[in-house]
Amino acid sequence: MKILDDTIAAISTPLGSGGIAVIRISGPHSIVVADQIFSAKTRLTEAESHRAYFGKLIDPDSAAHGNYQNSGFLDEVVVTVFRAPRSYTREDVVEISCHGGYYHTRRILELLLKRGCRLAEPGEFTQRAFLNGRLDLSQAEAVGDMIRAKTELSLRAARSQFQGFFSERIRALRQQLLDTCSLLELELDFAEEDVRFADRSEIQAKLASTILQVEEFLESYRRGKIIREGAKLVIVGKPNVGKSSLLNALLKEDRAIVTEIPGTTRDVLEEQLSLGGVLFRVVDTAGVRDTDDRIEREGVNRTINQVVEADVVLFLFDGSEEFNHQDFEVIQQVLQVRSSPESQNFVAAINKIDLPLLIDKQEITGWLPNSPLVEISAKNLMGLERLEAALLSVAFGKEGVILNGEPVVTNLRQKEALERALSALKLALENLARGLSAEFVALDLRNAMDCLGEIIGEVSTEEILGNIFSKFCIGK
Ligand code: GDP
Repeated sequence: MKILDDTIAAISTPLGSGGIAVIRISGPHSIVVADQIFSAKTRLTEAESHRAYFGKLIDPDSAAHGNYQNSGFLDEVVVTVFRAPRSYTREDVVEISCHGGYYHTRRILELLLKRGCRLAEPGEFTQRAFLNGRLDLSQAEAVGDMIRAKTELSLRAARSQFQGFFSERIRALRQQLLDTCSLLELELDFAEEDVRFADRSEIQAKLASTILQVEEFLESYRRGKIIREGAKLVIVGKPNVGKSSLLNALLKEDRAIVTEIPGTTRDVLEEQLSLGGVLFRVVDTAGVRDTDDRIEREGVNRTINQVVEADVVLFLFDGSEEFNHQDFEVIQQVLQVRSSPESQNFVAAINKIDLPLLIDKQEITGWLPNSPLVEISAKNLMGLERLEAALLSVAFGKEGVILNGEPVVTNLRQKEALERALSALKLALENLARGLSAEFVALDLRNAMDCLGEIIGEVSTEEILGNIFSKFCIGK
């Protein structure tokens, strides 16, 4: 665990040039240290909380050396003091808004470090907010998600989690278990007398209901993951059906900010587009087809691997030709790796409808009976909205995309903790049915409660915290 009683500092805005930059300091000495380099009518030690003060930043050392040219002057700044506990970290916090600029801001930061502040680690301000009880762990995670959000929906999900709706749901589940557990534990206190306070069938019913709620919550993960990380879309079809043309058409239609964000890492083989507020990661694939050519076969293998991992597979057909064996082979190859009905998140699209239609739709619906079929022209940008709607509906399944602040499980950590809680609950139910004593069942329930507690950070280890906060940027 990091030391909590020291004072940390970091540049909280992105490094580089900018109109202004903010340097943040948090900890018991933050006000005193900032005061040493700040010159204004009011001393920061006397400053009111939550008020902005205009003044000069001075390097006291260079002023002391009688450098009359600048008398230690560094910048004109605005400083805000947030006195504990009314601050982001619940400690004394000082924020210095100075002019932006890589070298300039570093210079100010160094001055603070020289005066006893320690450089904050990634996410350390938020970690302190968590450790001091201002945010719970899932809210702290949501801060990171808000910063990283690339689409409207992922931002909305992160906001909802930040507001605590997700934690509320977890707390409610935990409370249900605590109530059940208390009944069982009360019995243990009277073990000698061999009493049974709790009606076993009532406890069973309560547990079954909690299990159902956890299962339902877990089901939201598929949606939650897509909202947070985007849906992986693979376009398959024989050569020349228009896969590349379609990808380009979609990219052209989509004025997505995602591709414009500097520093966004983009796989060369992957294009990102935002359709209906959802990020689609489109794998740019060569045609899936049988081939004897070794190199090409590797290309196809890669495509098949992509097909296995896809959240949505889009089959493209050429409407200006008859359905042929090449189309059939593409379908067969995909069906081979996605044979179960629940893995068949497929959309079918007939392309080139600007040309006379020769394809027989029934050939397609015969092979892909449960998939929506839309007609488009990648060249003339026709039918793209219908295609978008079909992709969204298949990506999200029957529950739909709608996200009105209702909590969804968005990350793997939460999902895994919920799964562990679920198995502990199922074990409890089993042990009840087998007539095991209250002691054992209570233990299973405590176990499940701990798993839920991990999600909101009521039970946490250094490893869990390290994993979460190391992914943050410095200064957050
Ligand atoms: P890919 O091999 O599946 O990636 O196919 P391409 O995107 O390279 O397209 C093959 C050919 O079909 C190109 O000459 C495209 O201009 C043409 N094409 C693609 N979409 C359409 C369309 O909607 N209508 C027409 N008429 N031609 C299209």
